[in-house]
Amino acid sequence: MSARTAALGPAVDPIPILRDLIRFRSVNPPGDERRCAEYIADLLADAGIESRMLGPDPERPNLVARIPGRGEAPPLLLHGHSDVVPTDGQEWTHPPFDALLIDGEVWGRGAIDMKGGLAMMLSALLTLHARDEAPAGDVLLAVVSDEENGSRVGAGWLATHHPELFEGIPYCIGEDGGAVLTVDPARRFHPVGVAEKRACWLRLTLRGRGGHASRQGWPNLAVHQLTDVLTALRDGRLPVHITPAFDRMLQDLGTVVGDELAAEIAALRKGERTTVPYELMDTADAVYLDSTIRHTVNPTIIRTPEKINMIPAEITVDLDGRILPGDFTVEDYIAELRALINEYSASGTLGDELEIELLLEGSRNPKNEPELGAFYERLTDILRAADPEGLPIPMITPASTDARLFANLGMDCYGWLPMLLPAGSRYQENMHDADERVPADAVRFGADCLYELLLDHP
Ligand SMILES: [Zn+2]
Repeated sequence: MSARTAALGPAVDPIPILRDLIRFRSVNPPGDERRCAEYIADLLADAGIESRMLGPDPERPNLVARIPGRGEAPPLLLHGHSDVVPTDGQEWTHPPFDALLIDGEVWGRGAIDMKGGLAMMLSALLTLHARDEAPAGDVLLAVVSDEENGSRVGAGWLATHHPELFEGIPYCIGEDGGAVLTVDPARRFHPVGVAEKRACWLRLTLRGRGGHASRQGWPNLAVHQLTDVLTALRDGRLPVHITPAFDRMLQDLGTVVGDELAAEIAALRKGERTTVPYELMDTADAVYLDSTIRHTVNPTIIRTPEKINMIPAEITVDLDGRILPGDFTVEDYIAELRALINEYSASGTLGDELEIELLLEGSRNPKNEPELGAFYERLTDILRAADPEGLPIPMITPASTDARLFANLGMDCYGWLPMLLPAGSRYQENMHDADERVPADAVRFGADCLYELLLDHP
């Protein structure tokens, strides 16, 4: 805390807010975000901030509030989702909706994803109010529903039906989608999500002769093709594409890791190597890197006619594919996939022959490349001032968040919910899983960073 802010009185503690938010079971599906949104509306109203509820389903409203600024910066969007994923089938050490505070940690579903982030945003806004300050520019707060299940009644609905709310807003801040790296266990990284991959879900259909399963030896059955496909997806990789944002990330990373890893990272940047050095890194970090230097593909659903005495004449394989940010099309992606399967198929041409159906395509950010300009630099400056030992780093989010919907409206979106976590910790890995929890001080750190941003940004 600087001398200036100390004189202005204490910040509004985000922890009681976070604990209240966790106690609303806004589990999606079905959602039930209404009471959570009403709680936030009341909290804002107590500070004299008016908000509106918008949406196609009264039980699942989106809350929107515009806080006037000093007119010294363009308006800024803060967006966060109030829904959480279910806890079914998970073994929790402490109940997921009691929001217990144990040894300095807040436990519960949403502690990280992303009621912790909402609490930071609300704390920052309420602190401004308590200190009788106005943000640099207007702030639009959008607390949306349905992020965890397609955003159709949430950010997707708002962006489609109320684009006027977002007019003239160049930048937005939201969650980082779990972009996290620990590469050096002694080092604290602060990810700034600057771009997201987009979904490309496909269905492959494999065909061969059917017949009675008591006979053996027919060539090129659908199951044989399946073996080739699965082998290609296990052992092969799609080509590497080092995008500018990722190049910057590797460059920053290369400055803090050991010599051996730094040399490998330099080789990746130069295109001299195409594989990630798993042997030099924690597996989770290597998987993250592997997933952000290329489009990814994972087989997730395989269907056969389910008759044990019949050779399946048709097998379908559903693939969860993710395309890098940038100028890449679904056609580019499918061409790479066909080439990879060709390489691993007995015939050498299986990839070319496959029937491929597009099931879902995530929208492409019209800007293609994230901006790492003045706004990005401001985010990293705040982090450096708040944690001189930490390293802010631009990151590509391997999955996608609501940011994709706001990016479509022309905004530059940043995943930025800073947390002061112990170096090497993996709190983000508990999001969507049992025992999700967050250190209270990590959330307070983020609230302070957001407060600084609201006061002063380009
Ligand atoms: Zn989330």
